[in-house]
Amino acid sequence: MNKPVQPVFLILFLIVVPFLIYAFLQIQSLEEDEEMANAVYEKQMETVLFSLNQYADDMMSQWVRRLSNAQAPISKNAFDLTLGNESIQMLVLREMATKNDSICVNDYVIKGENAQQVINAWYDEKDSTLRRLTAYLAAGFQKIQPAEEWLPIDGLKTDQTGITAMVYDKDSVLYNALFILEPTYWVEQILGSKMQEIDQDEFRLVVYKQDEDVRPPVFLYQTDSFNIARSSVRKPLWILPDTYLAIQPKGESYTDIIKSRSRNNLYFLLFTLVTVLVGTLLVIRSIRSTLKIAQLKSDFVSNVSHEIRTPLALIRMYAETLMLGRLSSEEKKKHYYQIIHHESGRLTYLVNNILDFSRIEANRKTYQFENKELNELVETIHTNFSHYFEENKNNCELNLSPNPIPISVDPQAFEEALSNLIENAIKYSNGNDAIEVLTYLEGEFACCSVKDHGGGISKTAQKHIFDKFYRVEGALTQKTKGTGLGLSLVKHVMESHQGEVTVDSKPGHGSTFTLKFPLTHS
Ligand code: ADP
Repeated sequence: MNKPVQPVFLILFLIVVPFLIYAFLQIQSLEEDEEMANAVYEKQMETVLFSLNQYADDMMSQWVRRLSNAQAPISKNAFDLTLGNESIQMLVLREMATKNDSICVNDYVIKGENAQQVINAWYDEKDSTLRRLTAYLAAGFQKIQPAEEWLPIDGLKTDQTGITAMVYDKDSVLYNALFILEPTYWVEQILGSKMQEIDQDEFRLVVYKQDEDVRPPVFLYQTDSFNIARSSVRKPLWILPDTYLAIQPKGESYTDIIKSRSRNNLYFLLFTLVTVLVGTLLVIRSIRSTLKIAQLKSDFVSNVSHEIRTPLALIRMYAETLMLGRLSSEEKKKHYYQIIHHESGRLTYLVNNILDFSRIEANRKTYQFENKELNELVETIHTNFSHYFEENKNNCELNLSPNPIPISVDPQAFEEALSNLIENAIKYSNGNDAIEVLTYLEGEFACCSVKDHGGGISKTAQKHIFDKFYRVEGALTQKTKGTGLGLSLVKHVMESHQGEVTVDSKPGHGSTFTLKFPLTHS
């Protein structure tokens, strides 16, 4: 019966290995998909930032175009532009040929004394930059760029940021325009509404200043409270020095969503694996139990054939001898009749057991309950068996309870149950002939026990002896005839009486089987 173990491992192996390979490939392809999706999403966010940069560039180009407006002199245009835009603290126009500066300041600014000095110093430093910008302009490309390394001027707001571009006035005189901006106003005025438009409840956008990466960023404008600790995409804002744009999704970040999705997929795969394994184990178990039942059934058929053949052969042999009239002594004849009677009794008992079993299996077994007295029933059965005890040289002691015990019982079923227990006690007495049948009260139960001093039953076997077709493996059972049905019938009878059958046994010390009936109160 140990043979199925290897196929169990084989089947598990055949299921688990492909499943694990599939899970592994699935997880790997998931990771690739996620990386790709993540990259696409980041590109999308970068595109948003690119469009914002482009927008800022366009807005500044508009300002620079307004300076070269042909309707008015450039200084007038600069004056209008400065006063019309709060974010421009100061606008310097340097005529490139003469190096003359005209300076416009907004009305909330009082230009400090060091202004001209700082301006001159900056222009001295940025000569090559201005030449490059001029070359671009000559090539027809209006380049606007951050005014790097601007030193703050007294009288202006402390936060000063510069933007510079080359521009021709209406008379084609070349100027450099240097915008000194208040960055917070500027971002709010130029980018604020655009950023809100992009936000769309989906992203958080921020513009921040950070001189060096180590310094904490200073937020200039944010659409919603930006979470610096969470992952985001950031790009420099082209037009302002040391200023950055950053974007991050609102709510759960895309990476978080992907991570939790992968985790769920993994859990699902594991759950499926466990389900498949459990399912397979159940199927294997059911196959094994079907095989076992098939084995038991085939044992049963051979046992029954054997059981029927022996008494039939004896009956036939003794009946033939009697028929031929070969026996002269009356005593011998009587003995032969007894044998025929006994063997036909065995056959009846066997056939009754099998018929009962088939009725139980077909759910057709019915019981006729009557109010009876337990001692009386047991005594009658004991008397019926006396001849059998004599034949088998068993000494069966009857110990009845002193008081009558009323029970509701199907007398025929009771006889079958007790007969099975007595038969077994005789069959498995193993040469120790003392048997005891007792009746007694135990709490709310009427009990009838059959006690033998035979081979006993191991604890493991005790769990199965009430199963149909089960016979304990061992020498004693081997040499004793039986079908493995008796105790399963006893169990059915007892359950139908709302009672139970119990066993108390120790190998080598005999067994006690007890039928327990609920008491009827009269
Ligand atoms: P069987 O026809 O084999 O006797 P049963 O259902 O009556 O079938 O019993 C099942 C098994 O329980 C028996 O094969 C036997 O091994 C064991 N058994 C039953 N009664 C006893 C007993 N009194 N002593 C030892 N073993 C017993």
